Amino acid sequence: MKPLAILFATSEMAPWVKTGGLGDVAAALPAALRRAGHDIRVLMPYYPALAAVFPDATVVAEIPQLARHLPAARLRLAVVDELPLLLIDCPALYARPGNPYLDAHGHDWPDNVWRFGLLSRVAALLGQVGNPYGWQADVVHANDWQTALAPAWLHYEGGAASVVTVHNIAFQGCFGHDSLAGLGLPEHAWRFDGVEYHGTLSFLKAGLQLASQISTVSPTYAREIQDEHFGYGLAPLLRHRAGALRGILNGVDTDIWNPADDPALAAPYAANRLAAKRTNKAALQAAMGLRPDDDRPLFGVISRLTQQKGLDLLLTIADGLPHLPAQLVVLGSGDKAMEAGYRELAVRYPGEIAVRIGFDEELAHRIEAGADCFVMPSRFEPCGLNQMYSLRYGTPPIVRATGGLADTVVDVNDETLADKTANGFVLDSDTPHALWVAMMRVAEAWQDRRLWQRIQKNGMRRDFSWKHAAADYLTLYRDALARPA
Ligand code: ADP
Repeated sequence: MKPLAILFATSEMAPWVKTGGLGDVAAALPAALRRAGHDIRVLMPYYPALAAVFPDATVVAEIPQLARHLPAARLRLAVVDELPLLLIDCPALYARPGNPYLDAHGHDWPDNVWRFGLLSRVAALLGQVGNPYGWQADVVHANDWQTALAPAWLHYEGGAASVVTVHNIAFQGCFGHDSLAGLGLPEHAWRFDGVEYHGTLSFLKAGLQLASQISTVSPTYAREIQDEHFGYGLAPLLRHRAGALRGILNGVDTDIWNPADDPALAAPYAANRLAAKRTNKAALQAAMGLRPDDDRPLFGVISRLTQQKGLDLLLTIADGLPHLPAQLVVLGSGDKAMEAGYRELAVRYPGEIAVRIGFDEELAHRIEAGADCFVMPSRFEPCGLNQMYSLRYGTPPIVRATGGLADTVVDVNDETLADKTANGFVLDSDTPHALWVAMMRVAEAWQDRRLWQRIQKNGMRRDFSWKHAAADYLTLYRDALARPA
């Protein structure tokens, strides 16, 4: 089949700018589609982090001022492993330090509507004929609210087919009516079946309404977001567009997350060489100031510390852990009260509970390798990456049966042990008690080393590479082309 020209528009991309799962997807999916022979190019802002790595990125187009609040910009090109990165250089909007969405106080940047308005606008432009870059995408792939307005311009002005992928529906990019004119969208877009959403202009709603096709990052989440409880107000629209919506489970970068070849680890290991995992546990205990022994399981957490991730549940029962007995290591940041709660916990149980507040990629690898069991009791989880990393690292996860967690983790019971699918522990409610019961189950199963190895190996054998997802996205793009918005 003919290769496709695809523009992958994103507000973050690992390793340079990453706050969550989208950053990892942006690093892996376009690269996989490039390898498959497609002309895919990534579009994102020329953030300082990117300007530092690619100071000489070639200017390939001058983008004129396209609307009152969308300033002129330069389009720069950097090529990484044959993947073109198109970077929007607009210092007034992007040349500022820190997080792409939040200022130093954790508040949204006040001009996010223009920052991501410009990103969406340029994404649409590159799907339109006669654009200043001179290359036109067949399909514009928007991701989350920050680029989800691109399908609106393509809908009202014509151009490429469009796809919007929801990585987290809780963030919707809602702004005032006055932003319509500032962005240069036509007044007639202000409709219930346009960009208007309960009196606001919602980027995400616009994308879900107007894109040719919609996807989200796991089959279960695709079903859940059609339900009021998970849809954050967008469930009726998603039910209406159910025929254009599908769930494609993210893969993981199996080169970066590979226990047999991970430079961050004290000792490499694999399913047939599991003994070396213990060396990693000892190294992690030493590095984190935990008591060095292997007579109790070590639970690990790497996460944003938020309600979504259910880590308040763990905080509620954590005082019981040293008596289980078990150890706990937590790496995360987020909600200030939760950060304080975890810090205090570590002070109460030195040697048994260790907490590191912050973002630390290398330590994340060491925790995946050194912990015995990973804890991820999310209230909702569109896909989730850490449970997949955990499965690959022989660190069976405890998860809630939601979203991508439900699609990847199979609870241990007689039946799933017999058919060799058992790979973790699944809670069916979001109560501290349910989590405590799961942790007790883990502590018991872990003592039976042969049983534990069976569970570890089932998880390690599963294929989480991007191969399958990349093929599914191609089908999605072809469906979008067959049915433009
Ligand atoms: P989300 O995108 O909702 O935050 P995911 O599980 O999909 O959750 O992806 C989170 C990604 O961010 C994973 O790669 C995880 O390892 C990483 N991560 C989260 N918090 C930290 C942290 N404090 N330090 C290092 N990596 C982290």
